[in-house]
This record gives sequence, C-alpha cells and structure tokens, in this order.
Amino acid sequence: MSEPKKLYIKTYGCQMNVYDSERMSEALGGQGYVETQSPEDADMILLNTCHIREKAAEKVYSELGRFKGLKAEKPDLKIGVAGCVAQAEGEEIMRRQPLVDLVVGPQSYHRLPELEAKARAGEKALDTEFPEEDKFEKLKNRPKAKRGPTAFLTVQEGCDKFCAFCVVPYTRGAEVSRPADRILREAQELVERGVREITLLGQNVNAYHGAGPDGDMTLAGLIWELNKIDGLERIRFTTSHPNDMTDDLIEAHGTCEKLMPYLHLPVQSGSDRILKRMNRSHTAESYLRLIERIREARPDILMSGDFIVGFPEETEEDFQATLDLVEQVRYGYAYSFKYSTRPGTPAAERPQVDPQEADDRLQRLQALITRHQREIQDAMVGRTVRVLFEKPGRLAGQMVGKSEYLHAVHVSGADLSAGDLRNVRITASGANSLAGEVL
Ligand code: SAM
Ligand code: SF4
Repeated sequence: MSEPKKLYIKTYGCQMNVYDSERMSEALGGQGYVETQSPEDADMILLNTCHIREKAAEKVYSELGRFKGLKAEKPDLKIGVAGCVAQAEGEEIMRRQPLVDLVVGPQSYHRLPELEAKARAGEKALDTEFPEEDKFEKLKNRPKAKRGPTAFLTVQEGCDKFCAFCVVPYTRGAEVSRPADRILREAQELVERGVREITLLGQNVNAYHGAGPDGDMTLAGLIWELNKIDGLERIRFTTSHPNDMTDDLIEAHGTCEKLMPYLHLPVQSGSDRILKRMNRSHTAESYLRLIERIREARPDILMSGDFIVGFPEETEEDFQATLDLVEQVRYGYAYSFKYSTRPGTPAAERPQVDPQEADDRLQRLQALITRHQREIQDAMVGRTVRVLFEKPGRLAGQMVGKSEYLHAVHVSGADLSAGDLRNVRITASGANSLAGEVL
C-alpha cells in the first residue's frame, strides 16, 4: 500500500469555515490524504480563509509567502486557497502568488477532488463559481469513525440582506437552505459516531427555509425534528438575524428540551440612525422588544451579540445609544469590532470615523461588555448546571466541558470521559471559565 499523502489545513474565521474544513478534509480523504498538524510534513497545504477582517487578503498573501521555502525544498507540494478570500480574489491570487496551485471558492468544495487531480498533474486549478448543485450532497459521505461529542452542521449558507459593511453576500452568495432530510441524515450519522451536541450553522441560520417532507420547513421545524433523534442531547444554532426570529423559534426556546438556553443575536449598533445607514432593517427598540419576548419564553437564556463601532458617520451620541442598549440587554458574551472598510460594499465610500476615536469607543464598549460577562459568569457560583464534557483539561485529572449556557466548566478528580453529561455544582468563577464538582 502506498503511503498516504498528508494534508495541512489552516482555518481562519467563523465556525462555518471550521465545518467546511472538516468536509474538505473528508473529501480529500477519498484522494488518499490524511491530515497533519505540520505544514513541513504536508503534500498539500490548504488555507481556508476569511474575508471579514481588515486586510484579510493581504494577510493571506503574507502567509502564502512563508511557504516559499517549503515549496522550493519539496516541488511536489501543492498549495491551495479556499474560503472567502479565494472567492473575492479569484485568479488574482495565482497572478500575485505563483506558488499557489489551487483556488476554490466556498460553493465549489465538492469539486475539490477534481481540482486536486488537476493540480497534481501540474496545471493551475481554479473554481469560484456558484453552481446550482448542493455541494454538501455531492461531497463524499462523512466517514463512520468515532469523533468528539460536539459537531457543527451547516444548514444554510449565504445572505440576501446586504448590510452596508458586509462582504458575505458577495463572497458566500445568495441565501440557500439545505433540504431537511439531508440535514437529518447527517445529524443521525454524527450521533452514531458519538456526537451528543450539534450546532446548526448559517450566516443567517434562522432564515432557514428548507424543503421538509410536508413542504417548507422553518428552523424551528428542523429543531423539533432533530429533537426526536435518540442520543442527540443538545441543539444550538448560530448566527441569527433579529428580523428572522420567528414566533415558532422563540416558542421553541421555551418548550424544546434539547434546545440550549443560549442565543447569538447580533445587533451591531444601538443607534437607529446608524442601524438605518447599515441597512439593518431593525431598530434598537424592535431589537429590545424581541429580547423581551425571548426572555419571556426562556427567562434564563444567555444572550450574545456582535457590535461594530466607528461605522462611518457614527457620532459620540450614536455610540452612547449602543452603550445604553448593552446596559439594557446585559450580554453573557459579545463580540465587538472596529469598523473596517470592505471594498465594494456601500459603506466603504462614506466618510470614515477618526481611527483613534473608534479605538477609544471600542475599548469603552469592551470594558462594559466584559463587566457584564464577568457578573453573569460569577452569578453561576452556587448553581447547578448540566455539563457536556468534551476533553481533558490542562491539569492532570481535569476534564473540561460546556454548560447549557456555553460557559466552559472544568472539574478535577472525577471519573469522567468525553461525552459524559453530568450535573455540576459551580464552586468558582475564573477569568474565562467556571470550576465545579460533579453531583
Ligand atoms: N449574519 C450575522 C448578522 O447579521 O449579524 C453576522 C455575520 S458576520 C460574518 C460576523 C460579524 O462580523 C458581524 O456581525 C459584524 O459584527 C462583523 N463585521 C462584518 N463586516 C464587518 C466590517 N466591515 N467591519 C467590522 N466588523 C464587521
Ligand atoms: Fe453580513 Fe449578517 Fe448583514 Fe448578511 S445579515 S450582510 S451576513 S452582517
């Protein structure tokens, strides 16, 4: 038997990229590849890129430059770029960095085996189309090997909302939902491989409207179907848009036992003027009312969100409105970013906020979010939570898992294995995690 070829994948950005990298690795498994953690060992290096942050493409070019020496030592080494930078830059990548053999956009991963064969044959291989077929269906079935207790499962891709700052509608394309039966089959297979918690993924996951057995199915409908799978203990979903938080989904948070009390619901700003300029099509007030309804359905739900500060034309008054909104919601987690221009998006052409002012606002916002986050985490001390244990901790005899609220919890000296689901009494709250004892 010939030696397997080695694949090194580096994943940037969101959880959808993590899922895509797994699927790409599985697809290349069919071409005789096994994964390696070291680029020096690799026969193929694949960068699965993200375009959401500032100078994303430049960072990819500088990372690629670092592989020059490796390629000189090992001329058979193939180098590929996948993900949203591949989509946005296309052929330009091969022009600017000739050591790249393969460029594949996020909608074309099922064509990876052909592209790899082409690259192996010494040709340049490029595919950044938006084909009609379902790439996940065309990708090889996932292998049957055992795996860890948590998994991501992409159910929806792309976005039609065109927020004025965002590249996703351009790099990931129009909104598409996968048919429910394929998702349910994949979920069942994951459970058979040891998975106990599935996080459903989509750029706008709650806009999900896949074909179900009795016509169109909403995300809530899909969650109720997943709820029936024996052995699946927990369901999560991310990322949601406030305008797609339908009544059935809010209700499911109150009634569906496997749906975890955690919701990532980005608002971006607390100022109606800025929200309008962002093309968000919700107001601060409508967002707050929505959270009220969600909390009525599930009072202990832990909220998380995304914020952009320093969006073009944001004034101190607009920023104060964001701080006010954060005070009202009290997020258990939140991600805040300084606005950065994305060429080709409407906001890129507008008057920019002074960068130092934006930095200052970001620091003030993060200080407030961190305070709430810490208070909410500290308030868990003395409570009993249910923890799904995932892996050994850094200390000997320690296991780490996640509570229903997605807090990391570590426990020492108990007889635990990955996949165990236990009641844990929280005894201490640290910088980024909780400690507890199994009951
Ligand atoms: N679909 C989700 C929503 O509607 O909020 C967000 C998906 S987006 C990939 C993830 C986050 O990146 C956004 O919520 C936003 O806060 C941030 N982001 C996107 N474009 C940005 C930009 N140009 N500058 C700064 N942050 C940005
Ligand atoms: Fe980007 Fe989310 Fe807006 Fe879509 S809804 S354009 S993914 S921020």
